[in-house]
Amino acid sequence: MTGPRKIAEIASYHAHIYFDGPEQRAIAMDLRDLISERFSVSLGRVHDRLVGPHVRPMYQVSFDVPTFAGFVPWLMLNRQGLAVLIHPNTGRELSDHIAQGLWLGEILPLVNLEMLKDETVAEEARAPNTVPTLSP
Ligand code: ZN
Repeated sequence: MTGPRKIAEIASYHAHIYFDGPEQRAIAMDLRDLISERFSVSLGRVHDRLVGPHVRPMYQVSFDVPTFAGFVPWLMLNRQGLAVLIHPNTGRELSDHIAQGLWLGEILPLVNLEMLKDETVAEEARAPNTVPTLSP
């Protein structure tokens, strides 16, 4: 036994916001605007085609550790039925996704797991590309 893992291993987080069909896509795009107006985060491209381990179209939100405390509760209140995966980035990509994440709403399967490596450098939060002007 090496003892429990330290939260200092968490270099950043991702939220993957999934959508299914045109109605949910519109909700996801509205949510994207609401996020950009309220949080200093990095909004990733909208993937209408499946990428990585994801089985539904989605976009990624990369954010730093201090942002978690405000952003995740806000998502709880405002995800409007969309499935969301929030996972830490500790450098163990596989377990970060399949074991250490939390889901809001529906739990989706993850695929293509062979592309996730468990011994990588933990990803720091990407530079924010939003300019929030409203309080959450
Ligand atoms: Zn991710």
